[in-house]
Amino acid sequence: MKPEDRSVVRRTTPPPSETTPLVTPLFPSVVYCAEDADALDAVYEGRAEGYSYAREGHPNASVLADKISWMEGAGQEGVGQGIMTASGMAAISAVFLALLEKGDHIVAGNQLYGRCLRLLSQDLPRMGFEASLVDASDVAAVEAALRPETKILLVEVVANPTLRVADIKGLARLAKERGLIFVVDNTFTTPRAFKPFDHGADLVVHSVTKLLAGHSDVTLGYVGSRDPAHATALYDTITTWGLNASPFDCWLAERGLNTFDLRFQRAQENAKALADHLRGLPGVLRVLYPGEPDHPDGALARDLLQGNFSHMVSFELDADRAGVNAFVRAAGNIAFAPTLGDVGTTISHPASSSHRGLTVEGRAALGISEGFIRVSVGVEDIDLLTREFTDAVAAARRAATREAG
Ligand code: PLP
Repeated sequence: MKPEDRSVVRRTTPPPSETTPLVTPLFPSVVYCAEDADALDAVYEGRAEGYSYAREGHPNASVLADKISWMEGAGQEGVGQGIMTASGMAAISAVFLALLEKGDHIVAGNQLYGRCLRLLSQDLPRMGFEASLVDASDVAAVEAALRPETKILLVEVVANPTLRVADIKGLARLAKERGLIFVVDNTFTTPRAFKPFDHGADLVVHSVTKLLAGHSDVTLGYVGSRDPAHATALYDTITTWGLNASPFDCWLAERGLNTFDLRFQRAQENAKALADHLRGLPGVLRVLYPGEPDHPDGALARDLLQGNFSHMVSFELDADRAGVNAFVRAAGNIAFAPTLGDVGTTISHPASSSHRGLTVEGRAALGISEGFIRVSVGVEDIDLLTREFTDAVAAARRAATREAG
């Protein structure tokens, strides 16, 4: 055999094996080979299982989407399959790109994630789609914002960073009466605390980047649908607009998902304990944790979430920027990072990050002052956490006293 008759490039046959891997293998392949053109036809037409091109689907996305759909209740009557996307924003964008038609109007919560608010208030209007933003805990306000051409109602179950709670049951009734597509972002709550399909959602979206993946090392989204026609439209949009997820991110997220229940449980216990602790500290003006009696939507949260108030706590320091800086520096080991859902606790300052685009008055209208801090609570030892927060709040107070002096 001549050397040119042997090519390492062609040597792709996997070794035979009578055993199977315990862990889902990573499939980075961009393309999948078929036996012949008829076999490829069968895959494209859905008569045979398989993949053709990774933008159109790959095993790591299928396995992960299946798991999240199962967590969200797939298999129950009417709850269909989900699709992975490159990010949470890609999932939300896909919903609009797949379902809106010329002249359609959107009603959405006014306390959505910042980029989502930008999409609704700048990008979609640029393309001819108007959106009205309203308080999602107030069904009458949402109803008043509806127009004959309203097509989609989008809310987050628990909103960022004020942790206001949407009246999902009332909104689902309204959406049904008015023939709207009801889209619920379940990122903060996760299917462990709330299952939107059980309460009338047509579509559920997630930033899988957050607690579901849980380790701040992937950017991913998910969209699941009840109506097969929505699922088909979403699949076509995601593959055509290139909003698909990468195999490696899906693989990592599936690995993270295996410990999701444990992480959620521990983070939720810590969040409740931290909220109670912060409430007793001098220098803390108010604490927001959804199920508590002093939360503006406490009763709504207790009815919807049934004791699962998740891992997010917000609070207001009696501090200006100097006090906030002192707090952040003294918090030392707690990462100051504008994300959430990591296995470790992170703190963020909405006035200088997610809500920096708003005026001081605009932030004040949402209840976000300079001293407003959002905490994504992790799984650390709670005694360590409470000590760190006690020290950091005390540092903010010392800075405020120095300023006043
Ligand atoms: N939805 C919510 C509630 C979020 O908090 C975020 C991001 O923080 C997103 C959607 C967007 O997700 P991603 O950052 O994965 O695009």
